Parts: sequence; C-alpha cells; structure tokens
Amino acid sequence: MNQPMQNSLNRDPVSGVVTQGQGKAASFTQIDWVQRGFLELTGITPWPGTLNLRLPDPADRDTLMTRPGVVDLEGQDGACAAKLLPVTVTAGSTRCYPASIVVPMVSDYGVDQLELISPLNLRDALGVQDGAVVEVSAADSLEIDAAIFDLDGTLVDSLEAYYQVAKFAAASHDREVTRDFVRGTLDANNHSFWELVFTDDLPNRDDLIADVKLTARERWPEIQNQYLTDLPGVSSMMRTLHGRGIKLGIVTAGSGSTIQPLVTDGVNELFDAIVTKSDVNAPKPDPQGLNLALEQLNVSADRAVYVGDSRVDIRTARAANVRGIAVLSGAGTDQTLGIEGPVRMLRSVADFLRLL
Ligand SMILES: [Mg+2]
Repeated sequence: MNQPMQNSLNRDPVSGVVTQGQGKAASFTQIDWVQRGFLELTGITPWPGTLNLRLPDPADRDTLMTRPGVVDLEGQDGACAAKLLPVTVTAGSTRCYPASIVVPMVSDYGVDQLELISPLNLRDALGVQDGAVVEVSAADSLEIDAAIFDLDGTLVDSLEAYYQVAKFAAASHDREVTRDFVRGTLDANNHSFWELVFTDDLPNRDDLIADVKLTARERWPEIQNQYLTDLPGVSSMMRTLHGRGIKLGIVTAGSGSTIQPLVTDGVNELFDAIVTKSDVNAPKPDPQGLNLALEQLNVSADRAVYVGDSRVDIRTARAANVRGIAVLSGAGTDQTLGIEGPVRMLRSVADFLRLL
C-alpha cells in the first residue's frame, strides 16, 4: 500500500539500483558496539547485512549526506567510523520502510555506492532483486503542533504487570502463559487474549473465560501497584515538549489506569487530550480514538504524530493519516514494528527530541 502522507514528508527521493555488496557489512552490523550505536543514534538494530544500491548520479550521496539529520558513529576496536542518516525507503508502490544510510569513513569507498541498514531484510520487505530501482528519502525533522502517544509500553512500563496478572489468573485454572506470549498479544493488540489461552474445545469454555477475566480484574490493582513503573526520561521529555508549545495527547486501548506513574510525576496535567477505551466504540486500529484526540487538541492530522510500541499503533496512525513513530520500549520489536512502515523508530520516547 502506498503512503502519500508519509512520502510527502520527504522532499528529495534519490533513486538507486539494487546491487550485490561485497559482503563486508554483515559482520560489521553484528558487532555489539555497532548495534548499540545504531540503536541509540537511529532507533534501528540492524538486520545482518545491508541493502546495496548503485547511484546513477554519484552526486546524490553527497547531497543526502549534507542533510541536518546526519549523525556520527565513532570507530572503536579497530573498526572504522561511519556517518549515518535516517531515511525511508520505497520500491514501486510498496509501503515505505524506516532505514538508515551508512557511509563508512574509508578512503576506497565507492562514490556511487549507497548502503542501507534496516531492522528488516529490505530485499524481502520491498520485494526487490538486483537491478530493481529503490527510492531513498531523508527523514527530515518533523514539523508538528501535536504529539499523541499510546500509553502502555510507550509512556509507562506495564509489560511486567500484564504478564504477572495473566500468569496469576491463568494459574487459577492450571494454565501457563509466557512473557513472550503476553508481549506478542499486546503487540498485535489482540482483544481475545483469554480465547487464545483457552483454545481447547471445552463445554464450559465461556464460563471459564469469564471466570479467569474476573480473577485478573480483581487482582489487577495489587499487581499494578507492585509492577507498574515509569519509563526513564519520559516525564522530562513531556515537560520539554510542552515547554516548546507542542500539544500533548494520549490514545490508549486500555482503561487508562496505568497512567499512574505520570500522575505521580504530575506530568498527566500536561496532556490536553486523554482518550481511553470508554471514549470510543471501535478499538485501535480503528482511527476513531486518534481522530477524537486530534479534535480535542484542535490539530489537523498532517501536523501531528502518533507514537506507539505496538504494530496496531502504527496501523492506527496510518488509518488516521497521521505519521506513525515506533518506540522499542514495549511490546513490539524492530521487525514487527518496522514492517508496518513507521516514519521513524526510536529506542524510547526519551529520544523523541532528536526528531524535531
Ligand atoms: Mg502499547
């Protein structure tokens, strides 16, 4: 699916032709400090290897690498330094994907060569082979009037609380759930969590599910008290954004009870729109909640971003024609989020300022 909204952010797509690389990048991208550097500077943990492009116009690379978003990855342990530039990549009419140009600081690096790192296997994601044309656009600074956030996994760390309550309720019926299972269902925003736990064809299945939901609900306040925590740097980032005149909103599929860490910090008062499940009759990825927040903030879709930690958040943003930004502080992974085509990826909301 094409995303004109997201592509229109970028003024200068550069075309390159897919080629085979020299195979040097795969090992480089898997070095620990390189992975940490990429994650911190670009929000991307690289897939092994890079997508190699040959630029018909070699001047294009220098033009791209004068953009304000260029950052330096310092060399260590005998490996060279590199310049990085967050970009989005498209091929034909497919969705655009988040990536980063990497230009190693070595003297014999081909002038017409452009290498891209991404959380995804870009050849597969774009559906391209050698000789295909790929378009690369610098991910420029966001000009926004409002930043709207998902709550769980984005502004607060509630993953462990959800796991603990699910584990407790499941155990009351001799079932087990794993952290990965809970995380995966939160990433997909699956509304039938217990239906996925009780897949057996039991005569009293509906009663069992109703009972286990009640057990979880009764236990929730205590578990939330014990396991719900803030995410480092989020409160101070909200104060900074508010101080810059950016309107703040929250759109959550939950009841909103997990906002507590923000209340403790007094940061909840900075949000002019807080939309919870009781405010809408269609859950995410339906855009109803996000549209309501835009209305309450009196901001148009093209002047806002929606930031979330799950696949469904990026789909919700797309449905509302709002630019989606993925954060890796919650349920989603580089791969599950990257494939949804967010305009940018961040390690956490604490890194948000880098986008402005
Ligand atoms: Mg979430």
